Formats: sequence, structure tokens, C-alpha cells
Amino acid sequence: RPSFSDLKNAIRTIPDHPAPGILFRDITTLLGDARAFRRAVDELVQPFAGLKIAKIAGIEARGFILGGAVAHQLSAGFVPVRKKGKLPFQTVSMPYSLEYGSDEIEVHKDAVSPGERVLLVDDLVATGGTAEAAVKLLSSLGAEVVAACFIVDLPDLGGADKVRRLGVPVRTLVSFE
Ligand code: IMP
Repeated sequence: RPSFSDLKNAIRTIPDHPAPGILFRDITTLLGDARAFRRAVDELVQPFAGLKIAKIAGIEARGFILGGAVAHQLSAGFVPVRKKGKLPFQTVSMPYSLEYGSDEIEVHKDAVSPGERVLLVDDLVATGGTAEAAVKLLSSLGAEVVAACFIVDLPDLGGADKVRRLGVPVRTLVSFE
């Protein structure tokens, strides 16, 4: 079995994407590696087995890929957290700020029920703005966000700590300083 350093090595770095000076951490190479993909999902779920997680909330788009696998592993349902305007039924939305401007994420208003225990999943936490908005959105529907998990943390940007300050424990597997 690969170790976490093998997970890190399975992630590709693309310089100057999507803008000059940015090092984009590309997990498609990890997803394409059967052993690394399986190990990443196994390690993400490890602390949450037996915690009676009812739903996985996955953030568009790479959070869908991981979240589906995590949901299967934990025998939980799956809830897509999407960019504004994509979901067909009635939605609730939450704005969040980006480096330039702002965006909005949405879930179906009946996607989670009051008191339901939800685990948030995405590939990477950077500033934490997206995950923070997702926690607030799910909480506004009465869900209990038990934790948030990500394969990659960019600790210099402080996103994992931002989510922890909401009272939500965070699990990450690899960091890029
Ligand atoms: P945040 O809101 O600043 O934490 O950004 C996190 C969101 O942007 C996640 O949905 C990530 O998938 C995406 N993201 C930001 N930086 C990267 C990167 O270097 N690689 C892959 N996704 C990224």
C-alpha cells in the first residue's frame, strides 16, 4: 500500500494555472492511479466509520468524484453542492468571496433534514471560502456538519483553520507549503 507521501507524489503540479504565479495542484493523476485513489478514499473515511454519517456533501466538481466514493464506503447518501444555477429543483444558496469578486453555491432545499449528520468532502482546501460557505449553507438547513475532509491542504492560506473556527473538525491527507 502506498503511504501518504505516495499520495502526495501522485498529485501533479501545474505552474501558472489558471493564472501566472499560481501552482495548481492537479489530483486527476491521483484519481487515475487505482491504488492511490483507493488509499485516498480509505484514509479520508477512516475517522468517520461508525459515526453514523447520514449524508456526504460533495463540492462541485472534484468533490463529486471523491464524495461518491466516500458515500459508498460509509453507506451514506450523497448531496451535490453546486455552483449557482445548475440544480433543477428549489434551492438555497450561499454567497462567498473570491480573490476577484464573488460566487454562490447551492443545494436543493430538501437535500438534508434538520439534525442530519453530514460530512463535507472536497479535493482541496485553499482559503477555505468555499468550504465555509458550504458549512453555513448546510447548517442553515439544520444539518449537523460533523466534519470536513480534503485530500490536499494549502496551510499557508489558512482555509482548514477557518473551517475549524466554525466548530467543524477538518481532516486532510497531504499539505503543500
Ligand atoms: P478555497 O475556497 O479558496 O478554499 O478554494 C477551494 C476550491 O477551489 C476547491 O473547490 C478546490 O477544488 C479549488 N481549488 C483551489 N485551488 C486549487 C488547486 O491548486 N488545485 C485544485 N483545486 C483548487
